[in-house]
Amino acid sequence: MAMNNIPEIFGSLVFSDDVMHERLPNQTYRALKEATANNQPLDPDIAQQVASAMKTWAVEKGATHYTHWFQPMTGVTAEKHDSFITPVGDGKIIMDFSGKELIRSEPDASSFPSGGIRSTFEARGYTAWDPTSPAFIKDDTLCIPSIFCSYGGQVLDKKTPLLRSIQAMDKQAMRIVNIFGNPTNAKHCHSSVGGEQEYFLIDRDLFNEREDLVTTGRTLFGAKPPKGQEMEDHYFGTIKPSVKAFMADLDVELWKLGVYSKTEHNEVAPSQHEMAPIYTETNVGTDQNQLTMEIMKSVAKKHNLACLIHEKPFAGINGSGKHNNWSITTDTGINLFKPGKDPYNNLQFLVMLAAVVKGVDEYQDLLRACVASPGNDHRLGADEAPPAIVSIYLGDDLLALENAIEAGEAMEAIKASEMKSGVKFIPKFKKDNTDRNRTSPFAFTGNKFEFRMVGSSASLAGPNTMLNTILAEELEGFADILEAVPEDELEEHVRALVQKTFKEHSRIIFNGNNYSDEWVVEAERRGLENLRTCADAFPAYIREKNLALVEKHKIYTREELTSRYEISMDTYCKTLHIEALTMADMVKKSIYPSVLAYMTTVADSIRLKEAISDSVPHESESELLGSLAALSDSLMKKCKALEAALSSAEKSEDIKVEADYYRDNVFPAMQEMRAVADELETITAKDYWPFPTYTDLIYSVN
Ligand code: ADP
Ligand code: MG
Repeated sequence: MAMNNIPEIFGSLVFSDDVMHERLPNQTYRALKEATANNQPLDPDIAQQVASAMKTWAVEKGATHYTHWFQPMTGVTAEKHDSFITPVGDGKIIMDFSGKELIRSEPDASSFPSGGIRSTFEARGYTAWDPTSPAFIKDDTLCIPSIFCSYGGQVLDKKTPLLRSIQAMDKQAMRIVNIFGNPTNAKHCHSSVGGEQEYFLIDRDLFNEREDLVTTGRTLFGAKPPKGQEMEDHYFGTIKPSVKAFMADLDVELWKLGVYSKTEHNEVAPSQHEMAPIYTETNVGTDQNQLTMEIMKSVAKKHNLACLIHEKPFAGINGSGKHNNWSITTDTGINLFKPGKDPYNNLQFLVMLAAVVKGVDEYQDLLRACVASPGNDHRLGADEAPPAIVSIYLGDDLLALENAIEAGEAMEAIKASEMKSGVKFIPKFKKDNTDRNRTSPFAFTGNKFEFRMVGSSASLAGPNTMLNTILAEELEGFADILEAVPEDELEEHVRALVQKTFKEHSRIIFNGNNYSDEWVVEAERRGLENLRTCADAFPAYIREKNLALVEKHKIYTREELTSRYEISMDTYCKTLHIEALTMADMVKKSIYPSVLAYMTTVADSIRLKEAISDSVPHESESELLGSLAALSDSLMKKCKALEAALSSAEKSEDIKVEADYYRDNVFPAMQEMRAVADELETITAKDYWPFPTYTDLIYSVN
């Protein structure tokens, strides 16, 4: 028995592998494991036994209901609870759960986004149990991770394509492993993800006073605070007691759900934090990240805090991302992205590296599209996040390797150098092979790639689906070539193939500062794409080469990916629409009336002074009144302009026309109005300003 076993100490709410092993007959357990490992459909008898064990376990843990827990295209998870109670005649009611209920459920699908795939009158949709992600108990409900599809079999969720991409990648990666002899006798490859989650914590009462935060998740107004992040004192800073209490609680709640939250620290911006879990297979990791976001919000509520997971809750300070650490491992535990000490002679690694370089270059637009969201538009291209331009950081050693291979030269094994601190009693340790580059959107970090463009609120499903698919495509091309060469010529062919690939795709490699203006110019010279907004990025989904890619690997049909394009563009328009309406509401009902009240006070003061004597000076009040009057007048004009822009936004047959309209007309009108309101904030007395300021919000937790 393992010592200090987390599930034993904190009480597990996961129907984990251990629990199944313990509660299922040996044969059933093995049949279940074999079916999932080999992508075989599950025998209904087995499902019945699993369902029964699951129910008994869940009821013992206090559960009364069950739900198929799935990820529709809304970006949040969905659940519809059914209780276990079942009539058995004679007026008797028992707790029951059948294999059929475990395997499928039928939610009314008509109210979920489908991007035109399924009209509302065809309401039938199915959720189906995904046995590769463990069930768990949340709020006394047994949650069964599921996929979601329409009656006609089209996918309506984020998980099905992810599962398909894992299979596609597995198939092609195994061909490569076999070409190199498969010394460990691996049968499958899977992808892993560790999703580092950034978030903000603010006081809940203050949060509730901000209509913008409540309805849109971000502040739509707010003058720059006197102190932002310029002192660089928050990153890794001492964690404040109430934040510490939140994190401790969060860890325990997550551990109970099998999410092994490992690292918690302060991030760059005031009140910004990060949690990194122990990585796991992408399917499970994706579910766990959805749970993490949900649990973060509910634990925050218990502490009278609000957890903001929006990509850009505050202008002028850093936004939040979700670093997607991605690697490919065989079922025998070999990480295919691990270079080892002598990468030049690690031919399998060279092939994997070349495949990633080629894939990221050829499908940079698709990778950009899959991380686009209205929230992320504020982040990518701003100062703190990776830019909207996709490129790869290799680190010094791999860059040297890449250069050597391109030039047709050999390279010696890499020696890890020792760290010299200059203090004698500090124990010696070896330095990492790669230094960190915080600015790169896609960085090699030792034995994994870290895709840093993902937004903090995004599901991990999209990016990992695309990463796996792109890798499958490139590995397939390589395997086709390498399988055809005689064994004794393999090395020669690998070297030629890798050299050719690097020569053709090295434009995507960039080890420098991605935040600099020079990079934007340089990237353009290299022909890399710079898709700045959702309206620019999402159309990449429907470019012919990308439709062909997903169709070929059976990840999406053309129709399915096109529907995702439609949904994404529509969400972009709707988000901007809601934000604009919220802004107009706040201006008309809060900001303008408050400024009017303040102007009256200032005017009263002027009148009073005048009544006393002409010689009492009131120049500053008059000047202030002039500024308030001019700005508030301008504010109302800008508000009218914004409303006019909104009312001329027409539904178009072509969603691109609509999205471009929001980008070019609505968004700038929002920005212009905000600038005036923010200026007004700086000259309005604090007592009159209608809601908490940036300083109030970002320093609200102690
Ligand atoms: P770094 O210091 O480069 O950020 P960490 O070791 O702190 O790396 O890990 C960051 C995240 O990456 C964690 O969530 C971790 O579990 C995850 N991670 C580590 N190794 C892998 C791997 N091989 N595949 C996927 N994720 C990984
Ligand atoms: Mg990291």
